[in-house]
Amino acid sequence: MALLGYFAAGVLTWTFLEWLLHGRLFHSRGLRNPFAKEHALHHADPLHMVGWPRKLIGVVFVVGVLVAILRLSLGDFEAAAFPCGLGFMYLVYESVHRVIHTRAPRTSYGRWLRLQHVQHHFHTPKRNFGVTSAVWDHVFRTHVPFTKPLAVPERLAMPWLLDPQSGGLADAYTQDYVLVRRVRDLPDSTTAASAQ
Ligand SMILES: [Zn+2]
Ligand SMILES: [Zn+2]
Repeated sequence: MALLGYFAAGVLTWTFLEWLLHGRLFHSRGLRNPFAKEHALHHADPLHMVGWPRKLIGVVFVVGVLVAILRLSLGDFEAAAFPCGLGFMYLVYESVHRVIHTRAPRTSYGRWLRLQHVQHHFHTPKRNFGVTSAVWDHVFRTHVPFTKPLAVPERLAMPWLLDPQSGGLADAYTQDYVLVRRVRDLPDSTTAASAQ
């Protein structure tokens, strides 16, 4: 039971780190860090993402270091449970983020996740940092509710939003989104260009 508790603590800790790293590191203005540069590229082209090999090497390294440190005072399984929970949820986050951008929603939760992230990308890049949930945005008051239909610049629209025949907004999403020509046509003055 304790092992499950450690694993769950790792999962929960990642959901907080997801908010913290995205908000404080990826969107940091003053600090010219490689993570912020990489993330600015993702905002400029939402389909641009760092490949799985680099991410997997990173997670194996971090989990390995944490296990080695925790083994100094815990047994093998106890030492592995928390880092594995953390690493597992990190991989869930990475997968969810990719799916948000590349695949159409199938559930109401999937629909909500996409709206929440589109709100971050094109309207409030300094808010709505959570990708798998909005829990920590609510805790730290960085949550901005989205108003449908959300404007999305045509050039940066997720491929699944578009009708393959006409190239316009697919009928299934007209209640949730509206396409605009340029980022500066967005009703909100805060745009993807100010993502960094
Ligand atoms: Zn994104
Ligand atoms: Zn961002």
